[in-house]
Amino acid sequence: MEAVTPFLEVTDAIKELGGEDLDQCMQCGTCTGVCPWNLVKYFSPRGMIRLAQFGLEGFESEDLWNCVTCNMCVINCPRGLKIIDIIRSMRMMMNETGSIPASLKVPLGSVASRGNPWSGEPEERTKWAEGLGVKEFGPDVDYLYFTCCTQAYDARNQKSGQALIKVLQAAQVDFGLLGEKEVCCGDAIRKMGGEELFGKLAETNLSTFEEKGVKRIIVASPHCYNTFVKEYPELGGNYEVRHYTQLLLELIKEKRLKPSLKVEKRVTYHDPCYLGRHNGIYEPPRDVLRAIPGIDLVEMERNRENSLCCGGGGGGLWNEVPAEQRFSVLRVKEAVETGAEIIAAACPYCISMFEDALKTIGMEEEMRVMDVSELLLESLEQ
Ligand code: SF4
Ligand code: SF4
Repeated sequence: MEAVTPFLEVTDAIKELGGEDLDQCMQCGTCTGVCPWNLVKYFSPRGMIRLAQFGLEGFESEDLWNCVTCNMCVINCPRGLKIIDIIRSMRMMMNETGSIPASLKVPLGSVASRGNPWSGEPEERTKWAEGLGVKEFGPDVDYLYFTCCTQAYDARNQKSGQALIKVLQAAQVDFGLLGEKEVCCGDAIRKMGGEELFGKLAETNLSTFEEKGVKRIIVASPHCYNTFVKEYPELGGNYEVRHYTQLLLELIKEKRLKPSLKVEKRVTYHDPCYLGRHNGIYEPPRDVLRAIPGIDLVEMERNRENSLCCGGGGGGLWNEVPAEQRFSVLRVKEAVETGAEIIAAACPYCISMFEDALKTIGMEEEMRVMDVSELLLESLEQ
């Protein structure tokens, strides 16, 4: 980590960005009590707010990068402070001076040069969908399927994307892909404090959406969902956005999808933070799973708004965390405790984190990670 900017300068800037929120904090410590880091090591969002309020003396800049933006503290803060925005503001300051962990410089650099955090070639952005007969999006196409970067370039998540395409085709949904003109939605970049870069990504996507006549968007990632629903409107981009689990449930209700083949598996569903706590979407993914005959859906003790984060948000996917401190490892152990054979997820980050966690603890035989669309595809007559 490189030298940090003089603390008081940083504090002034954070106060400016944090606005009145900072002064509202009464230092009750609720945020620290609910923060999942305290399951594995001491970390105090209360202390971070304190430093931002009264000067950053003693500030350990490494701590700043712990936050995975899971929103647990925000929904529990009695004063309604936008704690993630405050932490994001602090990260913005660090970004300006280059004082960021080396592991995060890689995705930031890749997004700046290639439009995705995985060092993927832009012209290969839709290679994952080749051979499936998906058309290019144009003004006459109903939905844009916006590809999450992780689904575009990560081999495991490409499989979930391919399953979703087959399911959408089975329901005769009219959708298309943008191809190399599409760039990262910018979620992780903004949460890592890369505000300027986020602005450039949003501008690129918004002008492409405008040029191509986009009105309705399907997203695979809850992170893209949150960005399109809550952040692009501030920049003038207003679209009808559906997370794919919402659309799949509509298609099942309309009988355009008829899951009929039995999938006799015990399944537990993990709520991704950006679908659940950030956007209140808890039931549609569960209802899709309930519609699949044979599935025995069981809950982990921590579910819905109390779900344990996978650790992948806010740059966590790229942060180097020792195995014993990974939330993903705790979470798959919680899934194993339910007696389930499958942990179902609806987010490319969660899928990556859980696949990695199962390898780490050597439980790939006992438990599988599956995307909701993969389970649904198994139940469709083809
Ligand atoms: S929960 Fe809210 S009010 Fe309490 S210490 Fe945390 S930020 Fe401050
Ligand atoms: S958003 Fe989550 S990880 Fe970040 S400080 Fe709040 S509770 Fe902790």
